[in-house]
Amino acid sequence: MKLATALIDTAALTHNVNVIRQYAADQDIWIMVKANAYGHGILPVAEALAPVVTGFGVARIDEALLLSQQKITKPILLLEGYFSLAELEQTAQCQFQTVVHSIEQLALIEQYNAQQKSAGLDNGSTAPISVWVKIDTGMHRLGFLPEQISEVIERLSLCECVAKPLNFMSHFSSADEKDGDFTKAQISLFEQLTKGFIGKKSIAASSGCFNWPTSHYDAVRPGISVYGISPMEALNGQELGLKPVMTMTSSLIAVRDVAKGGKVGYGANWQAKTDTRLGVVAMGYGDGYPRLAPTGTPMLVNGRKVPIVGRVSMDMITVDLGPNATDKVGDEVILWGEGLPVEEVARHIGTIGYELVTQIMPRVKYIYS
Ligand SMILES: *Cc1c(COP(=O)(O)O)cnc(C)c1O
Repeated sequence: MKLATALIDTAALTHNVNVIRQYAADQDIWIMVKANAYGHGILPVAEALAPVVTGFGVARIDEALLLSQQKITKPILLLEGYFSLAELEQTAQCQFQTVVHSIEQLALIEQYNAQQKSAGLDNGSTAPISVWVKIDTGMHRLGFLPEQISEVIERLSLCECVAKPLNFMSHFSSADEKDGDFTKAQISLFEQLTKGFIGKKSIAASSGCFNWPTSHYDAVRPGISVYGISPMEALNGQELGLKPVMTMTSSLIAVRDVAKGGKVGYGANWQAKTDTRLGVVAMGYGDGYPRLAPTGTPMLVNGRKVPIVGRVSMDMITVDLGPNATDKVGDEVILWGEGLPVEEVARHIGTIGYELVTQIMPRVKYIYS
């Protein structure tokens, strides 16, 4: 019997990149594969997409090393940069591109530069590092403040180990809203601060790709939409022409009748209003399905939407199949994906599709097609 299994449709990945291309036809397209490619499997995703993209974005140097050790030769960008001299040395050796977002990172690169120089290594022993200066245009998470930018540019320009020209990036906080004043202000600040510089400029993640054509500049950085999931909470990926890449499946491991008034699950917090038939699905928070999913959260059993009843436990979830159900032990259950958008499941749980796909646990099997 097929227990918790994520079916990954790699053709849907390229389909989704083509959809994004319709919005950002002329830009470099960097695909975000951080957090194990949003739970989809970083290596197979990178292998499937390498031929059609500019490069890959990761959050940790370990993710970048994994890709380069597995012969992914496309450029790799460290979205949060490096956190020690040793990481910066690896960045240079592996020719990763890196964000520089803080004074600490700026000081490290100056230190590295001085070290290279004193060792007499400034004549091309390692190629200069491609740097993206991160500007904080209002998100207030990472990046230099507008008043720091000219000093940062000046200091980076003096480092022989930094490739010229410098590139610039920023990140939107609210681009999932169309026509929002906050996003407009971020765009105009970014434009003002990067005006006249010839390096690459990038600000748009998925929602910027779809909602803010004026923000596309030289490079876009989609993540969630590549996996077929909408970056806007109110929409499903399907409505943007995207196809779900992951279909999370499992099976019914028990089918049983419960009499009117019978209580189900831990805490006995759900009670049958009529005689009915329950299905027990081999999936639980031990697989990454959130324990907080309430009664009523849908699943698909034999093409029919059925509600979760009672609490999600570690390895199992009970669903109400209905009194006349003919579903059998071994029948497939779809938790989300083809036929049941992960966005819809996420809305029931009070989260977003990003979180559901990213928090899958190691015991879930993956099948790639
Ligand atoms: C994760 C990330 C993205 C991608 O965001 P999505 O909403 O998943 O498209 C883009 N840029 C940066 C800096 C990120 O960290």
